[in-house]
Amino acid sequence: MPKRTSGAAGKGGEASPAKGAAKGAAKGAAAAGKAAATPVKKPKPPQSRTALVRQARRINRELAEVYSYAHPELDFENPFQLLVATVLSAQTTDLRVNQTTPALFAAYPTPEDLAAANPEEVEELIRPTGFFRAKTKSIMGLSVALRDEFGGEVPGRLEDLVKLPGVGRKTAFVVLGNAFGVPGITVDTHFGRLVRRWKWTEQTDPDKVEAEVGALFPKSEWTMLSHRVIFHGRRICHSRKPACGACPIAPLCPSYGEGETDPEKAKKLLKYEMGGMPGQRLKPPPDYPGKPAPPLGAAG
Ligand code: SF4
Repeated sequence: MPKRTSGAAGKGGEASPAKGAAKGAAKGAAAAGKAAATPVKKPKPPQSRTALVRQARRINRELAEVYSYAHPELDFENPFQLLVATVLSAQTTDLRVNQTTPALFAAYPTPEDLAAANPEEVEELIRPTGFFRAKTKSIMGLSVALRDEFGGEVPGRLEDLVKLPGVGRKTAFVVLGNAFGVPGITVDTHFGRLVRRWKWTEQTDPDKVEAEVGALFPKSEWTMLSHRVIFHGRRICHSRKPACGACPIAPLCPSYGEGETDPEKAKKLLKYEMGGMPGQRLKPPPDYPGKPAPPLGAAG
């Protein structure tokens, strides 16, 4: 196993964290800096199944330390809100959804309310999320189905969720994992990219990725693993410029060197709380070490 290194990048991270919030970010940023002082030798991809499982679980444990506060990055207060927010998150950022949903849920708090809404008014409210006509059809359609077929409640079973308009397996797993405590793997663009970089799978089809990665971990880890991997993809292991020189799992990563390896330059690529910026949620959980996102139209 490659030796971990220690470095200075961990001293960076936040510009001015709120009181009481600094500890977690400092811990995460410090962990992010561990790999950064000296160049890391690129580890070879795991050769055997046993080595792959060991490497995958070790990466998960490291990520659990760095992102002890990992969570879904959509604001929601109940399963209905999470379901609608997840449908709205297609082709846009969680931040934009979080900035849009407060007005939507204030106007239509229940499936019954949204099912009976004027579509043009809904379109106006969700316009900032893009594809607002199709999304209006989906969220009104699923509200009608919830009202007429499920007594106004979001069902807690995969087979029921995927029958709702606009709801695929990815959305269903987000809802099951975070509103019902049912373990699930969420294969979004970040998750797929990172697990391929780690050689956990070569698949690009999300269902196949889900199956192959799921087989490396106990089910009980699936939901939090998904959050941690997505957190890492958003903050450090970016699509175009991964910040390898500030990456806490660099010594374990067979793709180390795909991005910036200079520690100081890599530090500048860190995002959200790792880079001292606001997060995506307007109402993050209490243990989130960064700053909340600004409301729609506010600076920042
Ligand atoms: S590619 Fe770079 S940033 Fe991504 S996990 Fe590997 S070392 Fe870290």
